[in-house]
Amino acid sequence: MTQAPPDAEARRAIAPVICYPTDTLPAPDLVLYRAARATAEKVGEVLVPPREGRCFEVKAGQFFRISSVEGPQVGDLNLHNLHDLKERFFSGKTRALHGTHVTTGERLWSNLPYLRPMATIIEDTLGWYGIDQYGGSVHDVIGTRCDPYTGNLLAGGHYHHCCHSNLTRSLADHTGLPLNEAEILVHDVLNVFMCTGFTRDTGQYFMKASPVRPGDYLEFFAEIDLLGNLSACPGGDCSSEHSSDTAACHPLLVEVFAPAQGALNGWSEPPVNAYDRSHGR
Ligand SMILES: [Zn+2]
Repeated sequence: MTQAPPDAEARRAIAPVICYPTDTLPAPDLVLYRAARATAEKVGEVLVPPREGRCFEVKAGQFFRISSVEGPQVGDLNLHNLHDLKERFFSGKTRALHGTHVTTGERLWSNLPYLRPMATIIEDTLGWYGIDQYGGSVHDVIGTRCDPYTGNLLAGGHYHHCCHSNLTRSLADHTGLPLNEAEILVHDVLNVFMCTGFTRDTGQYFMKASPVRPGDYLEFFAEIDLLGNLSACPGGDCSSEHSSDTAACHPLLVEVFAPAQGALNGWSEPPVNAYDRSHGR
């Protein structure tokens, strides 16, 4: 423990400033998206089995919905540019822009040097949850994904159905890539339906039973052509533990919807980031 300076309380009392005020971010046109959604018809679905991953493709301008079916279950979501798998979801910058948990009107951003919206959340039936008394909330971008390496580090053993491995297998199966090439494309996730936060006293990452129930869903508008990859986490509702076969697990349903021709008139795919990439040279 270090010695506190005489003005310690005064220093602690300084009010925080938001790192990235988002009022200059172009706002998504939710009115247009929802009007287009009202014309949309279902064009595909994928049922992700418990403790497995599955890929799905969504064209720019289409919608995809992730639903709880059968029982409470959280999902680990990866997104890639369908035509360039190196462009992928950037949970860290999404967190810096929108906060620890995301909901309606917020966007999933891609990694550098692309940094553009990949998808926009247009509906969240768990939006009512807010922030609970423990500081917990739903759909976080603070976790990474459960993985067998951390499991091995903390407890030894070789568990093969962590989200990292589920996402690796499903990406390899969908793309034909060898397992080791698919693995390095797997990235930090959006924890769909997962209820998490940081403890106030120790700052540790916590999880608690997800409030999700069958029928709940999170729905997105695809801003670019997407390859989605979703794992039904071995943690189930994440009320006790993950990285094992102990928890009760359920499938997750992904449905894709295409709007009517002309329903998105005036909308265009977001371009990649405009920074000139000269880095001062
Ligand atoms: Zn997981």
